[in-house]
Amino acid sequence: MLNLLHHPLAAHILTHLRDRTTKPATFRTLAYQISLLLAIDATRDLLTEEKSVETPLESARGRVLAQQPIAVVPVLRAGLCMAQPFLDVFPDVSVGYIGLERDPATALARSYYSKLPRLEGRQVFVVDPMLATGGSAVQALTLVKREGVARVKLVCIVASPEGVAAIGINHPDVAIHAAVLDRALDARKFILPGLGDFGDRLYGT
Ligand code: URA
Repeated sequence: MLNLLHHPLAAHILTHLRDRTTKPATFRTLAYQISLLLAIDATRDLLTEEKSVETPLESARGRVLAQQPIAVVPVLRAGLCMAQPFLDVFPDVSVGYIGLERDPATALARSYYSKLPRLEGRQVFVVDPMLATGGSAVQALTLVKREGVARVKLVCIVASPEGVAAIGINHPDVAIHAAVLDRALDARKFILPGLGDFGDRLYGT
């Protein structure tokens, strides 16, 4: 259930995201760009329906997105940067927020905020850039499923083998879309080689 981006542009963006000398303004632009590629990849199975239009020359049969409301649920705070690409390209998107933070002492996810729209019947994309231990993602997916969601995907930028395994064990029905699968976690549960603390690099904190 792990889908990786295989695209030269994704590799290019990722390398610049990893680069410690990349400044927050550029980091935010790159995070937007790679999230847009991921949004497009993660929605490749959206339903379409036939539609005929008149070109300036003749009629043409084409396809458009079928009525299927989607929702994007960023995990605060780093996930925020991944919501805008969904809003920019899809016509009917609701946004919910889940606030989870990692206790630096235990590395466990702690929920401090949850604001979800009506999610029932929607295709939901939980977005969180770094799938490290998987603790936050597992919790976010559990919260979303409690709202009666049947179709949910997890979209992240960098995944670790431990995080992918945690999703496989706790949410085997959830497909993961990531730009890359990294090597391992370090003792502090940071992804290696990774790109450091995503939220800090995004917001310059
Ligand atoms: N969160 C981050 O921002 N970076 C990591 O490497 C792991 C979790």
